[in-house]
Amino acid sequence: MLKKTIIFFFMIYCAAPIIEASCFVQVPEHPIANDSLQVGSERPLLEWTDSDHESSFEYLQKIVSFWQENQIADDYLVYGKHTKESSSFHWEIVPHYKDSLFWDFQQQLSVLWNISFGSGALPPEVMEEKAKVIDRLFEQTILNPQDRGVQGEDPFCKDEVIEKQWVLKGDRVTVLFNYAPIGFGGERLHFLIIPKAHKERFEDLSSQEYVEISQFAARLIQKYSDKDAYLFHKSGRAAGQTVPHFHMHLVFTGSKVQDIFGKLTVFKNMLLGSSPMSAVELRTRVEELRLEL
Ligand SMILES: [Zn+2]
Repeated sequence: MLKKTIIFFFMIYCAAPIIEASCFVQVPEHPIANDSLQVGSERPLLEWTDSDHESSFEYLQKIVSFWQENQIADDYLVYGKHTKESSSFHWEIVPHYKDSLFWDFQQQLSVLWNISFGSGALPPEVMEEKAKVIDRLFEQTILNPQDRGVQGEDPFCKDEVIEKQWVLKGDRVTVLFNYAPIGFGGERLHFLIIPKAHKERFEDLSSQEYVEISQFAARLIQKYSDKDAYLFHKSGRAAGQTVPHFHMHLVFTGSKVQDIFGKLTVFKNMLLGSSPMSAVELRTRVEELRLEL
């Protein structure tokens, strides 16, 4: 798929002191939603260097600034899928237009449907037209992260919540086990990677926080290397962000998910959430994972 889009391909080499990191922005051939864009590298996720994560972070931030400044969208979803067979990795950033609650739900439905079941190809002339936006992105300046002030009131700012759910701790970042894991496969492996500081949205993160989040994601993907990994995060109510503290979802699935029933289950759970575990069940699972990881 990537090769076919080569003419719309804008490769940017980002100079790094030791390793030359490369990243690109492109119009997806099969977009998850109208106006969505891909930011990626020609290497699989586990081979990404910190510089790759930094440069993808920068390009995603530029897209967000561009959409916000041009009133295209304030809120968005960022989605990626890693499989054992993947020879490259990209994020797809999907805008969500602000409107009524009903429309929010419809947009989320359509995005998830396209993620689960695939979407139609864009005609070449439409791709070409959409690619024009990419040139303008390079000049886009990233707005300073907004200081959203005091410690939040959300669950991820509460010590008692972190204490119940943490499985790994870093300098700036904590990995939580989701208390209502998206339930497919026997293990319900669903993690949330959050900054320790209260950062509401993706654009509020520092580059250092983002790199550490990515390093933890890679570590978990390596640990569960026999499974497929879905990574996504949402910023803003229109995109379906329910807890106003940034959290990257990392969900592992077995091969069962490839069948239609598996896909429908994923789809339903991603849209409507999954049932929470009992307190005892959660404590047992978290304790197991702390030992395992
Ligand atoms: Zn918070």
